[in-house]
Amino acid sequence: MAVRNSSGDVPDWRIRTCSDCGGEREHEVTVRFRTDATREAIQPQNEVFARQPYRLLECLYCGASRSERVV
Ligand SMILES: [Zn+2]
Repeated sequence: MAVRNSSGDVPDWRIRTCSDCGGEREHEVTVRFRTDATREAIQPQNEVFARQPYRLLECLYCGASRSERVV
């Protein structure tokens, strides 16, 4: 959907510090919901977290991905 151009016109919100390659990189940012997970995969202690949306961040430089909570 998003058109990515290589001319350096990258919105700020896509630039994150990547803990894997250690630099400020452009990331693919996707918002998802934990409820996508199967019920069995959700531990009781994660019950609250399970209902929260989270961002999936994928470093476009090294390919590392991680998630963070949306507050
Ligand atoms: Zn990276």
